[in-house]
Amino acid sequence: MATYDYDLITLGAGSGGVRASRVAASQYGARVAIVESTRVGGTCVMRGCVPKKLLIYGAHVSEELEDATGYGWTIDGARHDWSALIANKNTELERLESVYHRLLRDAGVTLLEGRGRIVDPHTVEVDGKTVTAGHILIAVGGWPTLPDIPGIEHAITSNEALDLPARPDRIVVVGGGYIAVEFAGIFNALGSRVTEVIRAGQILRGFDEDVRATLATEMEKKGIRIRRECQIRSIEKRPDGSLSLLSDCDEEMEADAVMYATGRAPNTANLGLEEVGVETAPGGAVVVDPYSRTSVESISAIGDVTDRVNLTPVAIKEGMAFAASVFGGTPTPVDYGAIPSAVFSQPPIGTVGLTEGQARDKEPVDVYISRFRPMKVTLSGRDERTMMKLIVSRGTDRVLGAHMVGADAPEIIQGLGIAIKAGATKAHFDATVGIHPTAAEEFVTMREPVPDPSFEHTE
Ligand code: NDP
Repeated sequence: MATYDYDLITLGAGSGGVRASRVAASQYGARVAIVESTRVGGTCVMRGCVPKKLLIYGAHVSEELEDATGYGWTIDGARHDWSALIANKNTELERLESVYHRLLRDAGVTLLEGRGRIVDPHTVEVDGKTVTAGHILIAVGGWPTLPDIPGIEHAITSNEALDLPARPDRIVVVGGGYIAVEFAGIFNALGSRVTEVIRAGQILRGFDEDVRATLATEMEKKGIRIRRECQIRSIEKRPDGSLSLLSDCDEEMEADAVMYATGRAPNTANLGLEEVGVETAPGGAVVVDPYSRTSVESISAIGDVTDRVNLTPVAIKEGMAFAASVFGGTPTPVDYGAIPSAVFSQPPIGTVGLTEGQARDKEPVDVYISRFRPMKVTLSGRDERTMMKLIVSRGTDRVLGAHMVGADAPEIIQGLGIAIKAGATKAHFDATVGIHPTAAEEFVTMREPVPDPSFEHTE
């Protein structure tokens, strides 16, 4: 039997790679090394979910200050210091990075710092040094993509937006996905003039239509300008450092920064995949089976590099399933059904299960919608509304989808995710006692479905 330096070499120390490595080592006794060329922690911890959420918390304070006046507070001279927020956020990231280092150490995982490249099904080269393993796990994640237009070198991505030395007075955010709406909200709340440019007619393609429309209305009410059906054609930097953007929608825009959030691509370039025979899809994603196995028996892949469901908790589940399958002797596929998720826009979105459109394509459904002004803003008069929506199968009474736009939506939807995963029916929701007074209680008190559009058409 061949002897290798390790049982497992993981490429990429992000959320998925770290979890897979730790579980393989500490739970199943594998000898594991993990290769990382930048900071341990990966996209989510270093340049994604975590720093973004810290900035979101900071941004929401502006609304808290507005509400405070309604509750009798006088807050004189409130000012925001962007550089203090960025510095404090960076201190927290350093703390988290050291926690990740400790977790790897405690699990007995060896960290190999450098860029990894697969040279054969059991060998990885790390900055000129070769190491061998029984299994190789690709968990290298993704990276922002930018369209090829003149002046694109003047644009930033979410990576740089999280570390800007100063907050731009005017920013154009290009794209209508998760990242674009989240950053549009951050900059707007902290005082920038924000224009979001989307090529489609509405933000957040793929989300429920009422969610998309509600969030767009709320964002516009807060002062974010959404320029629809518009594409930026070129970016020019003026001598004073400002940017001039030419578009195909008859509008020249001026800004101090332009941020692109037009999608992310798997980090598969220069990994040696083609040479070793690991199949990739046209966009570069590693092709895997339900057990995260690639076309090469000893090589697996998890997380964003496989472009399945690009969320940290999913990458972590894939990592644990991989470890159980390969080192635990229990072949474990990941269940991708009813994954709850959130968009940390302002107000935020929480969503689980089918959209109304997806559900109607499958079966007859009843739809319940509640729109209201949250109690918290009644004294200040702040103009924000919440939307909640349930989609229920007429045939089985099962709740197929739950969606919310409003304060605390991600916190509320996490619990509903369990109910929907457990197959809860509308009757279960109706039988549940609400917690009063909360926004969440609306999910168990909606009784009248909205009129069915198909009846309206036939009348
Ligand atoms: P998304 O794929 O979600 O959105 C990309 C957006 O860019 C879409 O609005 C798309 O428009 C637009 N777009 C694409 N190409 C162009 C172009 N050439 N010119 C103009 N617009 C363009 O990508 P994100 O970058 O927002 O997010 C990447 C991933 O990160 C997502 O898959 C998500 O799962 C994950 N993520 C999750 C978060 C969370 O859970 N809260 C937060 C942040 C990221 P169109 O609709 O017309 O295609």
